[in-house]
Amino acid sequence: MKYIVITGGVLSGIGKGTIASSLCYILSNSGVKVTALKIDPYLNYDAGTMNPYQHGEVFVLDDGSEVDLDLGNYERYLDRSLNGINNITTGKVYKEVIERERRGEYLGSTVQIIPHITNEIKRRIRKVANEDGLDAVVIEVGGTVGDIESMPFLEAIRQLRREEKGQVFLGHVTLIPEIGREEEQKTKPTQHSVRALKEIGLQPDMLLCRSRNPLTRDVKRRISLFTDVPEEAVISVYEVGNAYQVPEVIEKQSVIDIIKSQLGLQTSVFKDTWESYKENLLSPKTFVNIGIIGKYTELHDAYISHREAFNHATGNTGIGVNIMWLDSDQIKENPSLLEKLDGILVTPGFGYRGVEGKIFATKYARETNTPYLGICLGFQVAVIEFARNVLGLEDANSTEFSSDSKNPVIDILPEQVGVKDLGGTMRLGAKKVIVEKGTLAYKLYQEKEIMERHRHRYEVNPHYIGEIEKHGLIFSGKDEEGIRMEILEIKDRKNFMASQFHAEFKSRPLKPSPLHLHLVKMAMEYKKDKIQMEQRA
Ligand code: GLN
Repeated sequence: MKYIVITGGVLSGIGKGTIASSLCYILSNSGVKVTALKIDPYLNYDAGTMNPYQHGEVFVLDDGSEVDLDLGNYERYLDRSLNGINNITTGKVYKEVIERERRGEYLGSTVQIIPHITNEIKRRIRKVANEDGLDAVVIEVGGTVGDIESMPFLEAIRQLRREEKGQVFLGHVTLIPEIGREEEQKTKPTQHSVRALKEIGLQPDMLLCRSRNPLTRDVKRRISLFTDVPEEAVISVYEVGNAYQVPEVIEKQSVIDIIKSQLGLQTSVFKDTWESYKENLLSPKTFVNIGIIGKYTELHDAYISHREAFNHATGNTGIGVNIMWLDSDQIKENPSLLEKLDGILVTPGFGYRGVEGKIFATKYARETNTPYLGICLGFQVAVIEFARNVLGLEDANSTEFSSDSKNPVIDILPEQVGVKDLGGTMRLGAKKVIVEKGTLAYKLYQEKEIMERHRHRYEVNPHYIGEIEKHGLIFSGKDEEGIRMEILEIKDRKNFMASQFHAEFKSRPLKPSPLHLHLVKMAMEYKKDKIQMEQRA
């Protein structure tokens, strides 16, 4: 088994995750069976209870694990589904060690960071590596070298390297700032960061240097001189227009040959499967405006998988998506914002803030025939709006937002009643959805049974389903028992859809989410019709 470990230095947020994901892409397209492991040094057990404002979107895996959004990147670049074991946090490691201590498994010895915590970290790394048929694991260590929280993980990597001689390759991501009018590339922060790594016994094999412009020969030479990393292994990761171009930038600098020569990996000739995808993505032939209506719209990372799903739609159709981020709290005051849109996406969410704005946008879409997609809370909002304005149940609501509504059309899932802990207790992960033949949903999925990922506590109240369907809303996807509503559409209308599940989590560059793809196509039709109507007028 080969391990390719990626650490970070100088600053956080310089794209370590994208670089590590890009390595996964290049390796897997060079015939290497590779998976990813993300280490998050924070104390939280997982990302499930984190606020999107601080941390961006909470990503959900097939097995129901709630994880950092970086795991989404790995899945998209690898085109492979990951599970909870592909994410290690300090919380998971300590919980395990303390539980083992309580069971008396350490036989009376003093439990310490070295060796008990580091052993548990290595055990988890090897567990990922144990998967059948795998050649390599790319491990991203979150945080930057020198952070107190990363220390036990880096120490575990040092030990792993000692135990797995010649099998562990270390790449270090740093920043090369460009200063002054001459934009001189400065190497000092990289020198310091590598020194910090060396102090803990880790000599990097490759440096991946982020900078605005490509590194000059001279700068590469200087970095190599100060860090003992061979010049050809100083890789320039300069600014590109789109993150999907990063693999090609680093692949051209022979990273595979460098890794291969050190680890003795078997590879085949690299094949860039994204070529036409990227062409569409970088120069779309036409554009549509899609409004993402949410309450965390200032932080685009909170909806990163939706943005990616639209990228995937663009890459497969050549229709570019201009995303307009619309704060659901402000929609009612500024309804004209909606008029510029060719399509509307109502986002997932928790809590009442912003919900009335989402309902307003949904009503607008339904009444003006604007293409619409509601996801999770967006699905529930579509039901509330329909109940209020078509069934005439004025106070229809979700019991999440109102305990005294006489028409709780959205209600808590029966198994959620009495659940107190917030972490890891929702209806989570991949579940089977049965798609009704002859519906729009069936046309899009072309399959009777699909697996989609979930993260919710509330659902359509079964008491209202008959009445709602009588008025022309169709539940075209249900769970296996037929009691949980999963997809909705409006009778005789092809551009209004919503899903209780999160179609965005399974969207991949070459396999876009059918729902997001459909919204983009419908937005294009809508835009064309609008232009035609204007010309006629
Ligand atoms: N708050 C809603 C629920 O718990 C929707 C959740 C979501 O949008 N992810 O069911």
